[in-house]
Amino acid sequence: AALISLENVDKRYESTNGSGTDALTNISFSVASGEFVTVVGPSGCGKTTLIRLVGGLESPTSGAVRVDGRTVSGPSPNRAMVFQEHRLFPWLTVRENIAFGLVEAGVPERTRTERTDELLELVGLVEYSDMYPTALSGGMKQRVGLARALAVDPDILLMDEPFGSVDAQTRRTLQGELLDIWRETGKTVLFVTHDVEEAVRLGDRLLVMQNNPGRIRNSLDVDIARP
Ligand code: ADP
Ligand code: ADP
Repeated sequence: AALISLENVDKRYESTNGSGTDALTNISFSVASGEFVTVVGPSGCGKTTLIRLVGGLESPTSGAVRVDGRTVSGPSPNRAMVFQEHRLFPWLTVRENIAFGLVEAGVPERTRTERTDELLELVGLVEYSDMYPTALSGGMKQRVGLARALAVDPDILLMDEPFGSVDAQTRRTLQGELLDIWRETGKTVLFVTHDVEEAVRLGDRLLVMQNNPGRIRNSLDVDIARP
């Protein structure tokens, strides 16, 4: 059964002068539990809009966005988002950034510390736990962003070009780490990128989008050995 499903989704951004932008047109697809689906397409084709719809940060102009059979009506900790610009809190340490969602959820301190320790281990940042984000490289910041997203144990990870601003070598490393984490945790991942190579390396299935208006042109099962 589908965990995420979009049915004939249109998204139009209206502007005050009466014109507007059709960001997405007639998008339909579904993602099964545990699948890793990548969406690839040129800048401006609507990838961020797509992720924000599933995340509950935008609503469709028409059509349905459902998770677990229920219409998405807003953000939920069960659908964690990871952004290109990581959006870490600069006034919190690595450990505190990772624990942020657990504090919000009212998880007791002892459990919080245990969980945060596990995550620091998982993303290889144990030695950096008391540093502030400004002291970290771009790749490390993305690892913190990923650990923070995983902290609340979401079923779904929604990733918007998370490795778009790191150098090619670091990107490769992070891609491998993400696949390891995915295999280990069984999360469902929806990952958007403009990088075709990245989309093919990571996804079980690849949805190809076109620009103007944003539509899905192709859906391919990726059958290439992953790293
Ligand atoms: P991508 O992530 O593929 O670059 P976006 O989803 O950011 O695509 O944008 C799709 C289209 O919608 C673009 O034409 C963009 O300019 C437009 N758009 C995105 N967000 C907004 C917004 N908040 N208001 C108006 N237009 C927007
Ligand atoms: P990306 O290409 O990394 O997906 P963009 O640079 O297109 O992101 O957009 C960054 C932010 O600006 C997004 O939140 C998007 O919704 C918003 N945005 C994009 N295009 C427009 C636009 N034409 N008008 C208003 N907001 C926009």
